[in-house]
Amino acid sequence: MRRLGSMLVGNEAARRRRGARLLTWTTALLLSAGPGGARTTEFCLEGLFDIGVRHQGLRAGVSERTPTTWCVVTEDDGDRVVYRASGKVNPDLDDSWAVAYPAADVVRIVNRDDPPDVEFRGVEVAAAEARRVRRLDPRRLAEELESRGGVIPDLDIELDAGRIAWVTSRASFPLRGEVPVVWRWRWDDPAAPRASLTVESEVVFEASGRWRELAAEEATALWQLSGGVAPIEAPAEQWPARVAMRRIDLDAHTFLVRGVRTGFQHLVVDTEQGLVVADAPAGWVELHHLPPRDLVGGLGVSGLSEGLIDFLEAEAPGRPLRAVALTHFHDDHAGGARAFAAAGAEVLAPADAADFLDRSLDRAPAPPDRLARSGGEVSVRAVAEPLTIGERRPVTVLPMDASPHVGDQLGVWARDADIFFVSDVHVPVDEEPRPRTGRERTECWFAGWATGHLGPNTRVANSHSAVTTPVSRLREIAASPTCRGLTAAR
Ligand SMILES: [Zn+2]
Repeated sequence: MRRLGSMLVGNEAARRRRGARLLTWTTALLLSAGPGGARTTEFCLEGLFDIGVRHQGLRAGVSERTPTTWCVVTEDDGDRVVYRASGKVNPDLDDSWAVAYPAADVVRIVNRDDPPDVEFRGVEVAAAEARRVRRLDPRRLAEELESRGGVIPDLDIELDAGRIAWVTSRASFPLRGEVPVVWRWRWDDPAAPRASLTVESEVVFEASGRWRELAAEEATALWQLSGGVAPIEAPAEQWPARVAMRRIDLDAHTFLVRGVRTGFQHLVVDTEQGLVVADAPAGWVELHHLPPRDLVGGLGVSGLSEGLIDFLEAEAPGRPLRAVALTHFHDDHAGGARAFAAAGAEVLAPADAADFLDRSLDRAPAPPDRLARSGGEVSVRAVAEPLTIGERRPVTVLPMDASPHVGDQLGVWARDADIFFVSDVHVPVDEEPRPRTGRERTECWFAGWATGHLGPNTRVANSHSAVTTPVSRLREIAASPTCRGLTAAR
């Protein structure tokens, strides 16, 4: 799973212990499987999902509908659940992933194609999460409703002839505020019900469902560890995302804050006017949960960025927050901007997104955050021309052309350290001069842009990986057969 990749680096010790654990786990699984007979059922929803729902908020008229499959496997006689999905996890990346909940306090990331699995044990929220995912299957939801005497907390359910017809809940999105989330089920064909998922009156997923009974062998295999090897163990508190901020100095007044959450880092430049930060982070809303799960670690819309600001206050005591540069409008990069406004920072954004962000971030009802408590509001400044802040320790916020990822983006150039920070258009997994598989279009575009706009000695840092890339290597990427082929095809 993408967001977990970075956390696994350095877990070699766990890999080496796998032999010893294998026996324990095989035994445990055999014991817990019980005698055969009970049914294991897979329910899959296949359709078109608008991934823009996650990050576009109120931006009207832009749809990013993409083929998506969500499957949930459940058992008649137990609470174990497997969730599988495939589709786009962001505008550049097709992916598929699976998460199993094999016990009440265990979450396992299933890596069938690339074992071992990753397992979080002692996760307090695992059982509740498994239950929310299990409700994707409308028959399981109906069973649960009956067993609970017709009431499930935070879900408003309407039945039609004993079948689930409407399920209404609410969720808070960074750029939408708190809005209704509604599942509607249609049963013209009882074996293949149709679902539509609506967020704030916008249909974001239309799909049809099918059930399949798993044969005993397949059902048993489902709970076995991928490749028959012991999983990498990850600490319980790292599920679903780890917030463990630490400072990586690049020079005397330029640093990265790594571990803002799993797979997210941010550039900070201490100019003589105050700190300039790249991006204002916020978490996801998981729509395959009923009700949708809260944002990262229950931190709400602004909590993650408020935590980043607290970290900066401890690291650079007394330094004012001069500005936050939102590299692009996706809510995992821009959704925490209210926290920066509350701390007195100017909010800078790409020109084509500034109005949208300005409206969205001040939306009523406001999330219960520091900005709401102070009665302040967000005013977003569009950056259409290069904007330099500071003279002795300058940073330049640089508009980039429209990228395939999202439209206008900003890069943040720490001039003394000669580090150029970007989000989502360049996420190298290592130091090889090639675009990342599955994201060639966007990464080749950026390699070409960097070649034309940045000096050869500048190094590019990015929001999602620890690798920095010299522009000289980006030139090699731009000249690679893959990228040249894409340019020629355009
Ligand atoms: Zn993005």
